[in-house]
Amino acid sequence: MIQNLLENLYEKYKNNNDGNVATYIPELANADIKDFGIAIVTSNGKVFEVGDSRKEFTIQSISKPFTYGEALKTFGEAKISSYVGVQPTDEAFNSIELEPITNRPFNPMINAGAISITGLLFEKYGDETMDIILSIYSKAAGRALSINNEVYKSEWKSGHRNRAISYLLVNFNMMTEQVEKVLDLYFKQCSISLNSVDLATIGATLANIGTNPITNEEVFDVSQVRHILSIMFGCGMYNNSGHWAHEVGLPAKSGVSGGILAAVNRQLGIATYSPPLDFFGNSVRGIKVYEDLSKELGLHVFDSMNEGSNFLRAIIEA
Ligand code: GLN
Repeated sequence: MIQNLLENLYEKYKNNNDGNVATYIPELANADIKDFGIAIVTSNGKVFEVGDSRKEFTIQSISKPFTYGEALKTFGEAKISSYVGVQPTDEAFNSIELEPITNRPFNPMINAGAISITGLLFEKYGDETMDIILSIYSKAAGRALSINNEVYKSEWKSGHRNRAISYLLVNFNMMTEQVEKVLDLYFKQCSISLNSVDLATIGATLANIGTNPITNEEVFDVSQVRHILSIMFGCGMYNNSGHWAHEVGLPAKSGVSGGILAAVNRQLGIATYSPPLDFFGNSVRGIKVYEDLSKELGLHVFDSMNEGSNFLRAIIEA
């Protein structure tokens, strides 16, 4: 049933050519607008996929929840909350703006927050930070991932807006002065290459309370999973997060290369890949697929058909 559904969705949206590929990172402008992949991995490790589900792309902002999760584990909530908030923002993901009064970035799902978090990890782990980050993503995906050097170099060359954000953070003592070292890490983590099945496996690891259901390796602890899913739910789709929560109702994270990751608590990891983006920087075909999947399978967190709700109802009625 799931496989048929995915095939139908692929056919339904493959000719939808709305949206534009990101060009502000020159290497991303080379993406093929026809690429379109969907993958689902269940919390007990079954894989369903369609289209270009094995085509590699860079993770971009989908890295942000996981680096945040690692920072929470390393430093604890109290310290992290003085460097980054958990509040959705109405501004774009790359906005050069901090919260009034606290001078923190609004949340760790936008560039300012992710850069601030990466700075904290760099201060603690120095040159080992990238290996730590790459190893977490690899464990969650269930295979050794690597960096796409062309995209990394392209980001490094063109990333002046992220430099502006970083110096604003330095100005408010929200980041070490070693801006280039931190940005190097940030650009590298955004340039980690994976495919839709890898991404859906990362989602399934979250859905399976932190244990990769295919390799059985424990990647995140329970409290990290709770924080990662919460921040994805509130802030994962940038300044369209409220609309997404209303229509799709799943914790999710998108990236500017065209990926969208979502998790259905205790049930599924889902990933889509299609490069053309809407005004907010979210994949157009990806959004369509999620809206349909959520309705067809009753995945919305507040949908009465949601299996989690049925399970709870069975307990309450027993
Ligand atoms: N690397 C990208 C940037 O810093 C990530 C942004 C995104 O995926 N929205 O701009």
